[in-house]
Amino acid sequence: MKNSILTLNAGSSSVKFALFDGDNDLALNLKGQVDGIGSDARMKIKRADGSVVVERDLEEGKIQSPSDALTTVIDELRAIAPDAKVQAVGHRIVHGGVHFEGPVLLDDAVLKTLADLTPFAPLHQPHNLAGVAAAQAAFPNVPQIGCFDTAFHRSHPWVNDTFALPRELYDKGVRRFGFHGLSYEYISMKLDEVAPHYQDGNVVVAHLGNGASMCAIRDGHSVGSTMGFSALDGLPMGTRCGQLDPGVVLYLMDQLKMNASEIENMLYRESGLKGLSGLSNDMRELLTSSDPHAAQALDYFVFRIRREIGAMAAVLGGLDAVVFTGGIGENAFQIRERICDDMDWIGMELEETRNRQNAEIISSDRSRVRLFVLPTNEELMIARHVAGLMA
Ligand code: ADP
Repeated sequence: MKNSILTLNAGSSSVKFALFDGDNDLALNLKGQVDGIGSDARMKIKRADGSVVVERDLEEGKIQSPSDALTTVIDELRAIAPDAKVQAVGHRIVHGGVHFEGPVLLDDAVLKTLADLTPFAPLHQPHNLAGVAAAQAAFPNVPQIGCFDTAFHRSHPWVNDTFALPRELYDKGVRRFGFHGLSYEYISMKLDEVAPHYQDGNVVVAHLGNGASMCAIRDGHSVGSTMGFSALDGLPMGTRCGQLDPGVVLYLMDQLKMNASEIENMLYRESGLKGLSGLSNDMRELLTSSDPHAAQALDYFVFRIRREIGAMAAVLGGLDAVVFTGGIGENAFQIRERICDDMDWIGMELEETRNRQNAEIISSDRSRVRLFVLPTNEELMIARHVAGLMA
């Protein structure tokens, strides 16, 4: 039998998972996901070399919850990797509130605290916790460990933690938590591996995927992030609006008579690239579209990222490196090109060929700011946390 660590990321419509072998030197064994929970569920599992082991539709109507998906996944993993002995399960949990600055063993008291945070992340936290319950049932005596998207940002300074609202709201937890923390932590460690001298520099990381945010990192610590109280703030995303004047929400309520759930649906699912283009939330589709609204959606996306680079450089008091990551950051060279266009005033100069090749370093040799493309790996970050805590 091989000691293994299972990582889980349970959402409303998908469960992502990875199986790592080893106690300390972790090696990816299998990675996959179940999509379409509650509708047409489909499972895909790949080996570390990218070869597909399983890809099939699941029985119609059978997968109605993350728990159903997990049961199916675990059966499948037991069949494909019968010699894997799961020593611990690491869970991606969106919200650790003000309580958790690092990974933690999920005992009853911790789970109660996390359940109490549900109003802060109603679209994610319940599904994350359902994943924990399902894993507890499947692996009764195995430690379950929570890894939080908010934890990496808990060290950020007070001015980035607060809104200018009456003080009691801050005390009640209405703060800027920032998200994508597992991705930023991984990138910060990866940067230390590939270019150690930037570890104590001023670094901006742009995590550009369906969800998108940016983080200002100094000495390996978050000092600012574009996401705030919820995963809505900051950059426009696939279907989320990004930064918004709260007056717009009041207008939607008072004048357009929309209720909270209609507004929530608009801001989370009908806005961002999808809302602006009227076409799609998928960057690949927008890049190949000739629709002027698609072009405008991309203009706004690029504009906001450039603006935040300037803002974060000011927060950091300088800029040494910018890292692009996430599905768009890693692949959409056209978007990186537009972000970096005419940014030599801040010291960023792209090298066209390297950029088109999605090379690890995409800046020119004379660029004062080094520009990187580093694929993120949140699953590995979770597995490392689990291994660290187990040790
Ligand atoms: P999530 O936040 O769901 O994890 P991802 O990080 O997978 O999202 O990013 C998804 C986004 O990346 C989509 O908009 C997709 O179009 C974009 N993307 C993926 N591959 C490419 C590519 N080769 N070129 C341009 N965009 C890409």
